[in-house]
Amino acid sequence: MITDALIIRENNNIGEADRFVTALTRDLGIIRASAKGARNIKNSNSAATQLLSYSRLSLHKGRDKYIVQDAKPITVFFDLRDDIEKLALAQYFCELAGVLAPQEEPAEDFLRLMLNSLHFLAENRRNPKQIKAVLELRMICMAGFMPDLVACSSCGVFESEKMFFLPREGCIVCEKCSAGQQWGKMPMTPDLLAAMRHIVYSEFDKCFSFKMSDAGFASLSKCSESFILAQLDRGFKTLDFYNTISK
Ligand SMILES: [Zn+2]
Repeated sequence: MITDALIIRENNNIGEADRFVTALTRDLGIIRASAKGARNIKNSNSAATQLLSYSRLSLHKGRDKYIVQDAKPITVFFDLRDDIEKLALAQYFCELAGVLAPQEEPAEDFLRLMLNSLHFLAENRRNPKQIKAVLELRMICMAGFMPDLVACSSCGVFESEKMFFLPREGCIVCEKCSAGQQWGKMPMTPDLLAAMRHIVYSEFDKCFSFKMSDAGFASLSKCSESFILAQLDRGFKTLDFYNTISK
C-alpha cells in the first residue's frame, strides 16, 4: 500500500536502529509504523520518517503495526525547527491530530488542514495565533464537535454589542440572556464573533483568509483553545509548553 503521510510523532528507543512513528496518512488516518534502520542517517528512509516530514510511504501491514518499506520525502518542514515557538505550536498541532483524526479510515481533510497550517507557519505569512485558531476550530469540527455560532442560543438574536461564547455548551448567548448564568463565559466583540463564524462556516479554501489585529488574534486563539479543552475535557502537554513560551 502506498499513501502520503505526515509524521506526527517519532519514538526512538535507545539502542535500537529502528524508528517507530505515528503518522497521519491520507488513506488510513492515524497509523503506527516502524521504519527499519531509519535511525541511521545513511538509511534512505531516515529523513522521510522524521517528525514533521511529509512523505510518500510504502507500507506493509505487520501483525500489530505497519512496516515502512520505503519512504520518499515530499516536503520536510525543517525550517520550523529553527524557531522554538513555531516548533512548539507545530508539535501541538501534531498532538491534536493524533487525538482527533480517525484511525484506519481515510483522513484527507485532516491531512490537508495540517499541511496548510504548517506551510503558513513556516512561511511567516500569517500570525501564528490565527493559524492555531483556524486549525483548532476546523479540526474539532471535522471530529464532530461543531459549535453553534449562528445566533444567541436563548433568544435567537444574531448580533448584539456584546455576545458571550460558552466553551462547554459550544454556543453563544447575548448580553441580556447571559446575565447571572453560565460558568466560564467568554466575552466576544463583533470582530471576534465574525472571525469564529468565518472559520467554522467558510469553504476550506477560504478559512485562513480574514484579518484581525494581533490583539484580536490573541483573543480568538483563547476562545478556540477553551472550546477544545472544554469539549475534549483534557489538556495537552504540547499546548502547555507552547503557552509558556508564546509571546
Ligand atoms: Zn439572547
